Amino acid sequence: METDMSEKPLIIALSKGRILDETLPLLKHAGIELLEDPSASRKLIFDTTRDDVQIIIIRATDVPPYVQHGGADMGVAGKDVLMENGAEGIFEPLDLEIARCKLMVAALKDAPPVSGRLRVATKFVNVARQYFAQQGKQAEIIKLYGAMELAPLVGLADRIVDIVDTGNTLRANGLEPTETIADDISSRVVVNRASMKTRHAAIQAILDKLEQAVEQRRETA
Ligand code: AMP
Repeated sequence: METDMSEKPLIIALSKGRILDETLPLLKHAGIELLEDPSASRKLIFDTTRDDVQIIIIRATDVPPYVQHGGADMGVAGKDVLMENGAEGIFEPLDLEIARCKLMVAALKDAPPVSGRLRVATKFVNVARQYFAQQGKQAEIIKLYGAMELAPLVGLADRIVDIVDTGNTLRANGLEPTETIADDISSRVVVNRASMKTRHAAIQAILDKLEQAVEQRRETA
């Protein structure tokens, strides 16, 4: 049976943690609130105070593919995730100005310069590969899934590429930032291209409300 797309709820993809916590107050401004507490549930798809909107809660790195392939009409993703995983075929209409941080290269404090090939540990392999290529530096990229700060301490890598907010994590591990790859990392609203056309009015109305909420918060900050 064919389903009328416009009768399906609009699906917004969020990820647990900072993005969920900081996006919910903004969505509230658009009249969208979760009907149950996701931290007390094993569910992945949640109804909201709007019959026409559902929220799915997935891994941060899964938000771009869900939105790109239409599993969600819109979502919120970190710019770091968009840079690393590619944002082809999705719109990025709004910066929510939350979860702000930088993508940086770091090394052991007072590390001597490396002659020859740099060993770089990171989970941002694509970003790192592209960055060092642009710098004309030879780099061997070592993919890790966490605790990048450890790699230089045990001699696994000369550099790491990681997210830095206060710099406390680097300092606590005897590291220091050496270069900034991107200083404008924050959470962005992403929208599926087809949805932007077929459900334009509903999506634009939510975008307008979110933008207002971002502006209001900026004014009171
Ligand atoms: P900090 O010690 O404040 O520099 O924070 C560093 C660590 O916190 C990083 O290694 C990240 O894992 C995490 N972190 C900080 N800011 C963010 C963010 N906006 N998004 C995701 N992770 C972050």
